[in-house]
Amino acid sequence: MKEVYIGLGANLGDAKKTIVLATNKLKELEEVSFIQSSSLYLSKPWGPVKEQNDFINSVVKIKTNLSPLNLLKKLQEIENVFKRERSIRYGARTLDLDILLYGNDFISTKELTIPQAKLEGRVFVLSPLNEISPNLSLPSGKKVTELLLKIKEEITVLT
Ligand code: AMP
Repeated sequence: MKEVYIGLGANLGDAKKTIVLATNKLKELEEVSFIQSSSLYLSKPWGPVKEQNDFINSVVKIKTNLSPLNLLKKLQEIENVFKRERSIRYGARTLDLDILLYGNDFISTKELTIPQAKLEGRVFVLSPLNEISPNLSLPSGKKVTELLLKIKEEITVLT
């Protein structure tokens, strides 16, 4: 069994509800034992597109025997459920599910980059990771707490 961290993010429609429902779907996966979910975090969109909603992010910790690629397929199935629902019911809505860490493995293939490519500089990933696993070191050996100290961006924890 590998210890795996999954990043969840949404920024359209009822993003909070989307993250909660997606977390429930992760709990229901047969080959997955769910360990913990972080709080929900709210962050301002960054990059050139300012005219968009705030982001809601969280991180979920699981254990699984699924290979990285099979886990990715399960995550994409969950993403697709929400895509399908949103086109019918609620208008535009996005859900992104990323495999942040897969044990201490480094994976670089056409489909997967693990640890997730921009993890080390993103407060909305590092903060929830740090909440769940306060002493976590990344496969690179860098500590999440130390990476967080370098980041000035603000993030809000939702209660
Ligand atoms: P996006 O459009 O940003 O949601 O990117 C989706 C694509 O990212 C998928 O088709 C994956 O093959 C790829 N990808 C690369 N690394 C990862 C990762 N660590 N977790 C999830 N998807 C990944």
